[in-house]
Amino acid sequence: MSTLFLSHPQGQKHKAPNGHPERGERLSAIERALGGSEFFDLKREEAKEVDLQIARNVHSENFMQILRDRRPIEGLAFIDGDTYICANSFEAISSAIGAGLQSLKMVMSGEVDNGFCAIRPPGHHAEIEKPMGFCLANNIAIIAREAQRKYGIERVAIIDFDVHHGNGTQDIFYNDKSVFYASSHQAPLFPGTGEENETGVGNIVNCHLSANSDGVLMREAYNARILPALRNFSPDIILISAGFDAHRLDPLAQLNWEANDFAWITGKIMDIAEKCCNNRIVSMLEGGYDLTGLADGVKAHVLMLKTGSFI
Ligand SMILES: [Zn+2]
Repeated sequence: MSTLFLSHPQGQKHKAPNGHPERGERLSAIERALGGSEFFDLKREEAKEVDLQIARNVHSENFMQILRDRRPIEGLAFIDGDTYICANSFEAISSAIGAGLQSLKMVMSGEVDNGFCAIRPPGHHAEIEKPMGFCLANNIAIIAREAQRKYGIERVAIIDFDVHHGNGTQDIFYNDKSVFYASSHQAPLFPGTGEENETGVGNIVNCHLSANSDGVLMREAYNARILPALRNFSPDIILISAGFDAHRLDPLAQLNWEANDFAWITGKIMDIAEKCCNNRIVSMLEGGYDLTGLADGVKAHVLMLKTGSFI
């Protein structure tokens, strides 16, 4: 396999308040994690900024207005109790989306088989009308729409293994049969959505995982529900909302996944991508707030993307 790694220096411009878990050090930890000799053959590029108007393909005018109104001239401001925006956040968002677009382009051209974008702020909680949960724009949803709009792809699948439910992604595609969305998440937990009876128009799969459970329960859920539904959907491309906050070290949740659990999910998604869509996968970072756990999970995920194995 050939794998692209998109780094994202502009992500550091989205400056966190003291003590906030969604902080620039997360990207530095990933850079360090992928700096070892086993990753020498990653194809590395820097994300470029794109026009933020592209976010209007999934968000409302009201949403865009909230971002414009709340962004301070200097320093930072809170949109809600969790979600901050600062003077330079637009540069971070536009290059996060740019990373996804670059990865999409190179996967579609066949230049690489798959790509991983280390970006922030995360996106999967951002709804059509509302930024929330550390998320300012729904990066993965914007890339899904671009895959359809720009490359004529009909069927896009999004697999979200972040420990939280991606309420924003579900909200955006709830009535859209051309986009499949599956999420495994700890429940109950923020944001409180993602009940298993929320199935959209047959295109949504939500799997609950109980607090303190480990990779065994996760593998059962994927084998029983998510992977068969993904196979059945037969996507033309698979996008991954790659959150690493189900790691046992993460301070924001209580699951006990290990590095090999992230590798296992990645491998299973790759098996389906090989059969359905010429291996095409674009993976974009969501959560993961313990720096050691984040590095551990990302290494396993990217090593699997790159080699198809994890030891
Ligand atoms: Zn999360």
